Amino acid sequence: MKSVLPINSKIELVTDQHVRIQLAAAYRILATFGMDDLTYTHLSARIPGADAYFIYPFGLLFEEVTASCLLKVSLNGEILEGQENEYNRTGYVIHGSIYKNRPDLNAIFHLHTTSGVAVSSMNCGLLPLSQFSFHFYNRLAYHSYDSLALDNHRQGENLAHDLGQKKALILQNHGTLTCGATIHEAFLYAYFLEQACKVQCAALAGGQKIIIPPKKICEKAANDVREFESNFGIRDWTALVRKLERTDPSYRD
Ligand SMILES: [Zn+2]
Repeated sequence: MKSVLPINSKIELVTDQHVRIQLAAAYRILATFGMDDLTYTHLSARIPGADAYFIYPFGLLFEEVTASCLLKVSLNGEILEGQENEYNRTGYVIHGSIYKNRPDLNAIFHLHTTSGVAVSSMNCGLLPLSQFSFHFYNRLAYHSYDSLALDNHRQGENLAHDLGQKKALILQNHGTLTCGATIHEAFLYAYFLEQACKVQCAALAGGQKIIIPPKKICEKAANDVREFESNFGIRDWTALVRKLERTDPSYRD
C-alpha cells in the first residue's frame, strides 16, 4: 500500500491514507530519537473530527510500523480495520477517552522515556529552567498515578478531565502525553517536553543551585516561543520526513 505524501507542501489529515502515512512516519521518527519503550507506548491520529482513530497493533516496535499495519479503532475501543494479536486495552482507554472529550485534537503521543518518567516522579513537576520548558509554563496538566489504565469509564474520564483544555500532560510515576490538532504539533510538543525533562534531570543531578527566571519572564517566553512558530512543528516535521525518505521510506508501505 503506497501513496504519495507531499513532503514540502502543507501536510493535512484529509484521508485515512494521509493519516496512516504520517502516523507511520511519526512512529519511525520517534524510534530514531530513542523515544520508544519496547511495545508499551503508543501514538495515534485521526482525520479531524472522525469518530475513529489509527494506532499501531500491540506487539510491534515503533521501527516496524508501516502505514498499512495501523489499526483503525472506534472511540470505544472496537477494532474497525486491521488485525492485532493482543487487545491493547490501556492504549484504547487513553486515546479514546481524550478524543471523545477533545474534538480539537487529532493526534496523541503517549511516551515512557527515562527523562519523562523521572520528571513525572518529581514532586516539583516540570520546572521552568530551560527554553524547552517555557513551552509548558502554566500550560502543563498533571494526572495522579492510578495503576494501568484498564477501566474505560473511570480512568479514561479522569485522564481526559485532568488534561482539560491543555495539550501536554504529565502522568505521574508513569510518563508523558502530548497532543495536537496535527501530527506535527503533537510531535513538536513531545520533542520539547522530552528535551525539557532531560535538561531538568541533568541540571538537578549537577547539585548546583539552579536559576528560575521571574514568573513574568516565564509567561512572556511561553507566549513568544509559541508565536515564533506560525504552523507549530511543520518546519521540523517536514525536515524529519525528508530524512526518513532518504534513509528508509518503507514506512509508507
Ligand atoms: Zn503508559
